[in-house]
Amino acid sequence: MAKGFSLAINPWVYLAKYTDEGVWKGNYIEKPHLSPDEEKKLIAGEREKYIQGRNSFPELPLVNYTTQYGMGCFEGLKAFPQKDGSLKLFRPGENGKRMARSMKGLMMPAFPPEIFLPAVKTVVAKNAHLGFTPVYDPEWEKNDYIYGHAVYVRPFSYAEPGIGVGISTNPWVVIVTTSVGSYFKEGTSKAITSRRVRAFPEGIGWIKCDANYVTSALAKREAESQGYMEAIFLDAREHKYFEEGSSCNIFFIMKNGTVVTPSLEDTILPGITRRSIMTLAESMDLKTEERKISIDEAFSEAREVFVSGTAAGVTYIESITHEGKTVIFNNGKMGEVTHNFLRTLKGIQYGSIEDRFNWMVSAEETGNL
Ligand SMILES: *Cc1c(COP(=O)(O)O)cnc(C)c1O
Repeated sequence: MAKGFSLAINPWVYLAKYTDEGVWKGNYIEKPHLSPDEEKKLIAGEREKYIQGRNSFPELPLVNYTTQYGMGCFEGLKAFPQKDGSLKLFRPGENGKRMARSMKGLMMPAFPPEIFLPAVKTVVAKNAHLGFTPVYDPEWEKNDYIYGHAVYVRPFSYAEPGIGVGISTNPWVVIVTTSVGSYFKEGTSKAITSRRVRAFPEGIGWIKCDANYVTSALAKREAESQGYMEAIFLDAREHKYFEEGSSCNIFFIMKNGTVVTPSLEDTILPGITRRSIMTLAESMDLKTEERKISIDEAFSEAREVFVSGTAAGVTYIESITHEGKTVIFNNGKMGEVTHNFLRTLKGIQYGSIEDRFNWMVSAEETGNL
């Protein structure tokens, strides 16, 4: 499979609507589809038409607060094929809680986590039942699963029709899934700080919402066009402290061994991977700190740097460039501590390392498929 995300939405999707009666009405929809084998035989023109059919949602309004004003939020999580042949989601309950917080943050009715979790499990299980699921490949073990495949789950809110500026009071929640290959790109893992401001105090930086991604995408494109892999955002007030990457959190391993990540406040997205790494660090008896970390401090005291997220996993940063100055970490190679986090996290996710924190949730324990 090609690298990155597949743009073919899997046939089973979940759609819920917040009704005027104040309840969520949800149902599962099976898009017309071929079998994965038949699909492979399609020629170019046919394939596009077929995929287009799966990806279109005529029941959702085109002109609304989400498409016009970015009033929407989303989640991203993965189900991993396990070494034992099963399929498990990584901490989906946390995504459910964050989605509810995000919707509240945008003054929408929150989608209840107790509906989110079974809906996510069921969509993943129904698609797996049709064969739309990756198969575990022991070859992935050789590179700590950086080439591993997974099911990518994308829940998102979608507003009711609207053309004047407004908030969404009767949104839909849609859950789609697709397949995802390695995010890991050969080549550079250099990062550069961005002059742009992603988030500011009293803003929406802590909400996983569509609107935040405009600045992120622009900054990332600017970084890539200069030959860097990632753009890093600094704080809005002083442009001196690290915040996060374009869609991932950032970590520093200091020369004294302490694991440091910027404290959340209200400008940093509370990553589930970020929290999991802090838990792993503590279980490895590493000292951890959530606090402000400045460019100057990182440039003189950090030994390793990496970014974390559902898509990024644990991706080391070989160097950071800021205002023309470049500092290389660990001779430009992945450091030992970073590698240990990568190996442990991926091992737990793919089921080759014991899940001692009970993070993995079976996607198959659902009733009627
Ligand atoms: C989603 C996201 C992350 C990572 O969160 P995870 O839960 O670890 O996937 C980090 N930063 C931003 C801006 C994000 O949107």
